[in-house]
Amino acid sequence: MSLIHKTAAELGRLVASREASAVEVTQAHLDRIAEVDSKVSAFLHVDAERALEQARTVDERIANGDRLGPLAGVPIAHKDIFTTDDMPTTAGSKILEGWRPPYDATVTRRLREAGLIILGKTNLDEFAMGSSTENSAYGPSHNPWDLSRIPGGSSGGSSAAVASFQAPLSTGTDTGGSIRQPAAVTGIVGMKPTYGGSSRYGLIAFASSLDTPGPFARNVLDAALLQEAFSGHDEFDSTSIDAPVPPVVEAARQGDVAGLRIGVVKEFGGEGYQPGVLARFHETVDLLESLGAKVVEVSCPTFGYALPAYYLIAPSECSSNLARFDAMRYGLRVGDDGTRSAEEVMALTRAAGFGPEVKRRIMLGTYALSSGYYDAYYGQAQKVRTLISRDFEAAFHQVDVLISPTTPTTAFPIGERADDPMAMYLADLCTIPSNLAGNAAISVPCGLADEDGLPVGLQIMAPVLGDDRCYRVGAAVEKAFTDRWGGPLLSKAPAL
Ligand code: GLN
Repeated sequence: MSLIHKTAAELGRLVASREASAVEVTQAHLDRIAEVDSKVSAFLHVDAERALEQARTVDERIANGDRLGPLAGVPIAHKDIFTTDDMPTTAGSKILEGWRPPYDATVTRRLREAGLIILGKTNLDEFAMGSSTENSAYGPSHNPWDLSRIPGGSSGGSSAAVASFQAPLSTGTDTGGSIRQPAAVTGIVGMKPTYGGSSRYGLIAFASSLDTPGPFARNVLDAALLQEAFSGHDEFDSTSIDAPVPPVVEAARQGDVAGLRIGVVKEFGGEGYQPGVLARFHETVDLLESLGAKVVEVSCPTFGYALPAYYLIAPSECSSNLARFDAMRYGLRVGDDGTRSAEEVMALTRAAGFGPEVKRRIMLGTYALSSGYYDAYYGQAQKVRTLISRDFEAAFHQVDVLISPTTPTTAFPIGERADDPMAMYLADLCTIPSNLAGNAAISVPCGLADEDGLPVGLQIMAPVLGDDRCYRVGAAVEKAFTDRWGGPLLSKAPAL
């Protein structure tokens, strides 16, 4: 088996035992990028020289007997919303074109220290607003299963890179579903950790009370290893949780559901869902029962209000966060010819630098926060948010985890929803409640839809700081399906 097809855990072991060098592993992935990324467009920036330089350092340290983490020498691709002090960071926006951050995000820094090799930065919807990467100022990424379809979003470059074997691991951020949805539609694993479990320091802010960094991988254990490597308290993030990291790696290795109580969310599924998605979901419910779980239906009546509440809270926070792009401090500056006022330059820069979806969100959020409307919109949405947390709390008194399809449909064709924001927003129907409540949730592959042969994701939701439960159930599902399918789901994807 070639190096690019190995798991991250295996690659880390090969490098540690010096059966393969980090340089060889890195070169194999750079070759793959050169071979396929002209079709997939997962990357906005690749730095082969720096990657090889980092790999040489890891090899030297291992030769010197340094003890590095289990992922030392393993390549990774970062969503281009995490700052990197040696590469540009654009957030998929023209307004940050050419910006070189002076510092590393905590996620970036911790992974560097753990010896992971940064291949480059991946494409995303501008400022992580979207579900398809079509809102990127640099053009869309493509789904490796069918290049005419979206790879999900906003972290679609990261999902496409991992699903097309250009990187064994990648990072993403999940504000409303932007890790789980792209993972589901590309047939890989994507995890939204508990809010505050992974640091937002150096993450370009979209909606600060929701933004959550998390891992993408081709299997559950690799995702757990990556999450463990960047998680833990960070004094640079005021919302970071000062508690031990849940035992995610142990849970991923354990992978069993015997005796576990699993709740099927009654409100998710049915009308509006693709039949092939529902068929795979129901099969997975049967599978979990056959593995010894006790499956019951659980009602979470306020989950139906999550999407409208999110589309008030997220734009409100975005309208405040994006005010920092003022043409003075970062990136683009338009019309500064010595004749215009600072306000005029700011207006011209924002008009040219922000795309239509970002402008829509800033306007929506500014309106929702304005005097006279605050209580009716933002205030009401915050109340709904509390009710959603209560639904989760009540549910987790009855069951250990909740499950649902990750998305209502499989990957849709590029262009199909680009002019219909509401249709685009619906991609996150099932993922948003966990962002509003801050609890942990993962997406793992559960088969291919009959209609189109495209991947379907199972979402597993656990309580706050119950991240290990997501991995435990995810690993059990993965193991049972891998046996049934005779290999991982991705082995069924057409060759690129
Ligand atoms: N698709 C959702 C949105 O557009 C979620 C995005 C995200 O999680 N970053 O806001």
